[in-house]
Amino acid sequence: MNKDLLLSNLRNIPDFPIPGIQFKDVTSLFKKPECLKELNDALYELYKDCGITKVVGIESRGFVMGSALAIRLNAGFVPIRKPGKLPAETISESYSKEYGTDTIEIHKDAIDENDVVLIHDDLLATGGTMLAAYNLVKKLNPKNVMINFLIELDGLNGRAIFPEDADVQSLLTVEGD
Ligand code: AMP
Repeated sequence: MNKDLLLSNLRNIPDFPIPGIQFKDVTSLFKKPECLKELNDALYELYKDCGITKVVGIESRGFVMGSALAIRLNAGFVPIRKPGKLPAETISESYSKEYGTDTIEIHKDAIDENDVVLIHDDLLATGGTMLAAYNLVKKLNPKNVMINFLIELDGLNGRAIFPEDADVQSLLTVEGD
């Protein structure tokens, strides 16, 4: 993987969406064909032999590379969304944020006990969002669940939030807190 290409094209937006946050803007990677291909190839190389049957993407930045990877892997794509967005029967999981709580939902029939699932999102900060997604997917009893991020912020130790046996991989690690 050409890390230099990806890191040099990842835009940092200071103080977005609130003062003090260094926002890693993955749209600056998505808009460049060479970066999009590099990300897609790197993800494919990581997961091509894992028997993945469903890629789960977290709304909304997890939809971009998640669905592209699903096509490469001959897997299905499943969205995790904010409440009230999915039209059929859902199950949900709530989690604490810095201020208040958030809830995410998945279609109840999106995953079954024969699936091997990869959950994908753009960025690991505290890990709260992904842990809720992991717990949500686990409720549907798939054979195995793996976790992937494009970017991991190394200052927050978000990785520590996941169970020790969880398979958590990131393409890039960048400084951030
Ligand atoms: P967390 O639950 O703290 O791991 O936050 C992860 C979610 O928030 C991801 O879906 C990211 O898209 C977004 N996010 C949190 N912090 C940042 C950041 N510094 N730059 C870009 N996105 C972020």
